Amino acid sequence: MATRIRASCEECGDVELHVDDVRVRVCIDDDAGSYVFRCPSCTMSVVKDAEPRVVELLVASGVELTAWSIPSELFEPHGGPAFTHDDLLDFHELLEGDDWQAALLDPAPGGSATEAG
Ligand SMILES: [Zn+2]
Repeated sequence: MATRIRASCEECGDVELHVDDVRVRVCIDDDAGSYVFRCPSCTMSVVKDAEPRVVELLVASGVELTAWSIPSELFEPHGGPAFTHDDLLDFHELLEGDDWQAALLDPAPGGSATEAG
C-alpha cells in the first residue's frame, strides 16, 4: 500500500497526498528545512517550514529530498547607497532616449562617451 501523507493547505484545510506529490528541501548553509506540494483541491503551491524530525519522517516515507544553498550573491559586500525608486525612474527616462548606451559607458555626471576615431 502506497504511503499517504496528510498535510494542510491554508485555503482547503487537511489534504491527502502521495509521496510523489511532495518535495522536501533542506538548505545546506543553515539546515533549514521545508516541504512543498501542490494542493490537490485548489492547485495552489503550498510551502511549509519543516523541523528536522519532519524532514526525517518525510524522507523515510520516500519523499524526494533536495539540498540547496543560499546564493553566493547574498554574501557579496554591497557598497554605496541603496537603489531607490528615483533611481529606477531616472533609469527608465534614460532608456527612453537614443543615447542611453553612451551614457551607461560613461557614467560621469554630465559626461559623454569617448568617441573612437
Ligand atoms: Zn488548497
